[in-house]
Amino acid sequence: MIEAAFIGGSGVYELEDLRDIETIEIITPFGNTSAAVTLGSIGHKRVAFIPRHGTDHSLSPSEVPYKANIYALKALGVRKVISVSAVGSLNEAIKPLDIVIPDQLIDRTKSREDTFFGDGLVAHISFANPFCKNLSSMIDSFCESLAIDRHLSGTYLAIEGPQFSTKAESNLYRKWGCDIIGMTAIPEAKLAREAEMCYATIAVVTDYDCWKEDQEEVTASMVINNLKQNVETSKKLISKIAGNINTLGDECLCNASLRDALVTQRILDNQKIAKKLGVLLQKYLPA
Ligand SMILES: [Zn+2]
Repeated sequence: MIEAAFIGGSGVYELEDLRDIETIEIITPFGNTSAAVTLGSIGHKRVAFIPRHGTDHSLSPSEVPYKANIYALKALGVRKVISVSAVGSLNEAIKPLDIVIPDQLIDRTKSREDTFFGDGLVAHISFANPFCKNLSSMIDSFCESLAIDRHLSGTYLAIEGPQFSTKAESNLYRKWGCDIIGMTAIPEAKLAREAEMCYATIAVVTDYDCWKEDQEEVTASMVINNLKQNVETSKKLISKIAGNINTLGDECLCNASLRDALVTQRILDNQKIAKKLGVLLQKYLPA
């Protein structure tokens, strides 16, 4: 049984401390994953890992095969997905090198497919709370045990990228009440919810975006330096979570998100798309 999966962000291309490593290529109806999926053990726990941008960071946030990644994890039986994402801070109180476990999301991406459904089969999942509360508080307690500075709430604004924001945009997002800005939580969070998996994010803060007047303009090299330190922190945190996560018997609302979002008759009338969705719909198909 795989207890959890981690999707690594910028700088997190492999997991340390893993034993009994297997790498598996999973062919999905939505193409190839960002890289082969790594399975490995920490203590008695088995976990899966995918580096979101590929092992050599060759995929931009717009090019990441989000559907393939989420589908592959679902096919492996994963029920909990923990993503790591490098973000900028839009909130003075959230400092570079802090960790935010966001509870809300605003979508400003523009060229990404963000649903598995369509072609006759529509699903309207509930997305009022886009991150799993249970998984988020579990991550928070592991942060506490490692004495990591973190914030257990915050609104994540997802932009298309790959460019950073303009000052006008950055100030606008602050007025909207956003706390952090990143490029990958959408569509990952939406797809994970459609796949009935718990999803939470460890957002590691690299900089103050560009709104803060008393700091230099955000440059890639500044981001990279903080990123290196953040990579160390997030790897330590991931090892702690992976070695201690307990998923036995903890059914979560996320694991039934399609229950009221689909009409069975529509599934029966749209066998072709239903077949393509495979493991996502399995439990809703007549035996
Ligand atoms: Zn959940």
